[in-house]
Amino acid sequence: MIKYLFFFALSFSFISCQDKSTDTKVTKPEKEREVNIAYLRSDGDSTSTYTEVIDFYKALAKNHSSITMTEHYKTDDGQPLHLIEYTPKTARSNSLNILINNGIHPGEPGGIDASMLFFKDLAEGKIKLKENIKIYSIPIYNIGGAKNRNSHSRTNQNGPAEYGFRGNAKNYDLNRDFIKSDSKNSKAFYEIYHRVEPDIFIDTHATNGADYPYTLTHIFTQQDQLGGALGQYMNTQFIPEVEDSLTSKKWEATPYVNVFNRPPDGGFQQFLDTPRYSTGYSTLWNSIGLVIESHMLKEYADRVEGTYAFLKTMAEVSAKNVSEIKEKRDKNFKHFRELAYYPIQYKIDTTRYRALQFKAFQADTLKSEVTGFDRLKYNRDSSYTVEVEYNNKFKATDSVKIPKAYIIPQQWENIVELLKWNSVDYQRLSKDTILDVDYYRISDFETSKTPYEGHYLHSNTQVKVFNSKQHFRKGDILVKTDQRAIRYLVETLEPQAVDSYFNWNFFDSVLQQKEHFSTYIFEDDAADLLKNDEKLKERFEEKKKGDKNFAKNWYAQLNWLHKHSKFYEDAHLKYPIFKLRE
Ligand SMILES: [Zn+2]
Repeated sequence: MIKYLFFFALSFSFISCQDKSTDTKVTKPEKEREVNIAYLRSDGDSTSTYTEVIDFYKALAKNHSSITMTEHYKTDDGQPLHLIEYTPKTARSNSLNILINNGIHPGEPGGIDASMLFFKDLAEGKIKLKENIKIYSIPIYNIGGAKNRNSHSRTNQNGPAEYGFRGNAKNYDLNRDFIKSDSKNSKAFYEIYHRVEPDIFIDTHATNGADYPYTLTHIFTQQDQLGGALGQYMNTQFIPEVEDSLTSKKWEATPYVNVFNRPPDGGFQQFLDTPRYSTGYSTLWNSIGLVIESHMLKEYADRVEGTYAFLKTMAEVSAKNVSEIKEKRDKNFKHFRELAYYPIQYKIDTTRYRALQFKAFQADTLKSEVTGFDRLKYNRDSSYTVEVEYNNKFKATDSVKIPKAYIIPQQWENIVELLKWNSVDYQRLSKDTILDVDYYRISDFETSKTPYEGHYLHSNTQVKVFNSKQHFRKGDILVKTDQRAIRYLVETLEPQAVDSYFNWNFFDSVLQQKEHFSTYIFEDDAADLLKNDEKLKERFEEKKKGDKNFAKNWYAQLNWLHKHSKFYEDAHLKYPIFKLRE
């Protein structure tokens, strides 16, 4: 009881510094809900261990015919990934599917606990949804991280008492792994995702970017990137309906407060979730993607109950709009299958914004006792409402021509494996053949100087397009683009796309020249080359005139001539995936 009093005293001290409209409503844990859910046992400051979570769902599935639990592939930890499914007793065949992913960052476990409560209440009929909806959940995605429990790696987070670690069993951040797929977890995820084919995808997290009164923030997938009828629908109808419903439940949420080391009252920009992130991945399959980010400085019980309310709201709003969501998704698939040019780069449009009535804490600049420089400090006793500009429009800045098909020489098995995992349809050439194709030469790219998620990531990749007749072998892979996976194919196989396989180092072997020349003997060939090719000689002289460093560097000059001779190898900088011409 003392614990209870302490817990509610803290909750009320928090509520007192907010506007009424953002009052949070912490549900008092009910005795009958107290099964093996650590969150309930502990009066709201614990999260269940991996074993407790799995045992809980096993028992739930045993006791309720509406709940099933299945195992999928495996994770880097060695355990399979679990999928929980809630099917209403008289489920319709063309139901809307919601997939909830929890514990990708196990230090942010609010969704793990909220989903346990949610599935328990669904199974026990305490939440009544229309019969046209199925709800799925991955109880804990990062199993290795969840087992690596501690009390401090989420610096300054307000509970729970213990939690897991962000890195997985191999120390990958799984929320950067949805394209490069270094982990087994991501392959188990692909298996689940393409089995469920979710209309709505939700990933649960906690955030620490700034301080403000809201417990709940949301990152819906960027609507211009989602594109088509679905992007428009999500932005103008679905999100407002979700926000209104949350407000009516006293759980007002704000768009994710995307600021670093400055207060949000000056406005902020939407986060662009490229395909490496969970909702960037779900956008490739025209699902409405949402990241719930509960605020880590709020009481853990607030975060769990808020996430629970958000999950319930998503289910309710989705259930009301099943036919509309399905129709818009179908339109999006059709739209992208018929598209001639696919947008691959986006830039924020700073001229457009949504005006938010943002509830802020007073932010002060004080002198740091530690460094002597200015520091930011929020005053939680002083909150106010301010209109801020939320820039949530992006415009495409570059696009690529979508080919009829991509051709992948069979030796790039790692790519073919990933296509299989992602339910891509392809065929193998039945005999050797010559095809008219476009292909790329990599003309420029940058590489990060420090490792990022096990890679030295490339960016700002530029290509030049060439056309030729190429010889392909029996067994090479032909992937037609007129299929559901069109977005996945373009985003991974076009080198200029932000999260392309090229940028994730899958083709680094073509970036290195394998054969070189001996200067003492190539000198004679170079002289012949200039004698016999007037045009080349002109270009060579022009380059010397226009490039001082080149003019002073004899090796650079020989190297340039070597690259313009028959001796230079074809494979260097040639991107090895081809685009079939019409
Ligand atoms: Zn997170």
